[in-house]
Amino acid sequence: MAELERFAFGRERPEGDELGLHRSLHTGYALDEELRAAGTAGGWVTALLCGLLESGRITGAVVTGFSREEPWRPEAFIARTPEEIRAAAQSKYALTPQNLALLDARQEDRLAVVALPCQVAGIRKAQAVGARLPQIELLVGLYCLSNFLIDATVYIIEGVFGVSMEEVSRVAYREGEFPGNFRVVTRRGVQRDLAYPEAKQHLRMYRPYRCTVCYDWSAELADISVGDLWSDPSREAYSSIVVRSVKGEETAVWAAAEGLIHLESLEAALVTDNPGFRYKKRGNAVTIREARRHRLPTPTYPDNSMLPTRGRYDEEGVRPNT
Ligand SMILES: Cc1cc2nc3c(=O)[nH]c(=O)nc-3n(C[C@H](O)[C@H](O)[C@H](O)COP(=O)(O)OP(=O)(O)OC[C@H]3O[C@@H](n4cnc5c(N)ncnc54)[C@H](O)[C@@H]3O)c2cc1C
Ligand code: SF4
Repeated sequence: MAELERFAFGRERPEGDELGLHRSLHTGYALDEELRAAGTAGGWVTALLCGLLESGRITGAVVTGFSREEPWRPEAFIARTPEEIRAAAQSKYALTPQNLALLDARQEDRLAVVALPCQVAGIRKAQAVGARLPQIELLVGLYCLSNFLIDATVYIIEGVFGVSMEEVSRVAYREGEFPGNFRVVTRRGVQRDLAYPEAKQHLRMYRPYRCTVCYDWSAELADISVGDLWSDPSREAYSSIVVRSVKGEETAVWAAAEGLIHLESLEAALVTDNPGFRYKKRGNAVTIREARRHRLPTPTYPDNSMLPTRGRYDEEGVRPNT
């Protein structure tokens, strides 16, 4: 991690820093009301990407939409028009290989990439070893508590709604008023909704092992990291934003000046007061320690010295995640 931090930011984090290197913390939303409503939280990511594309700062963005053949299966691809970026707004809670989308890049491309923390780390590693990659202008990381096998999506559609997969014409995971609904629309136009907090209870049964030993919640190697702002109920449909690199800072300031996004400062406590932060930095920390004790595979980050001590777990009443 230290090596990758030096590569991405030219310095390493101070000891005990759990949010990762950053230049500023914010909350915000898309100033275009339609984009804000279409987004997962404040539509901040989608507004930023549309602005970057329309201004010619990028030629495309790796985003996650749905497969044409199987409209319930999330799929990463390079969006080359603002319409494609808009259509790919909202979180998809199923594993997708962002690196395969990069294979479709053209020689002249300058891309923004939206990816989860593990994928951001993979891209940084590939950049650091000089792998052949397209030119990446901006790496936007999403906060991530966990992702889920595609079987979770299939289970909710078939098992909970009783809809056959052949009947599905559209799926969304966070549609409607914040925090949104898991929504299925059938070919006959029948719509079925399950509130996101309830859908999450089904999704969590399909968490891959890798996510239970993952310690990076806020995409600590991204240029800009974005998540939901769960900490302040008075600010619904706001995104939570960690600006990490010089490039990230320059881009966010530019987008605010262009009137694309709203950006205001946020205290660190309101970023970390998020179930995902506690899940990873406390609960998963226990799982990682136990997995290593039993010689099960774990990522190299964090090294054991970064894990909070047992005394601190006891003080904070920390228990392993279930
Ligand atoms: C699996 C997963 C777990 C998450 N866990 C948390 C969490 O614990 N805490 C938290 O605060 N936020 C979490 N988020 C992030 C949160 O759901 C929103 O993505 C974030 O708040 C940005 O909102 P927005 O309205 O600004 O983005 P939007 O404008 O909605 O844009 C989101 C962008 O992310 C892309 N995207 C969607 N799904 C994926 C995916 N699976 N992989 C890569 N890119 C994708 C979309 O194509 C779009 O470009 C998670 C997201 C995902 C996908
Ligand atoms: S929890 Fe970690 S490993 Fe799992 S998808 Fe999120 S960032 Fe990747």
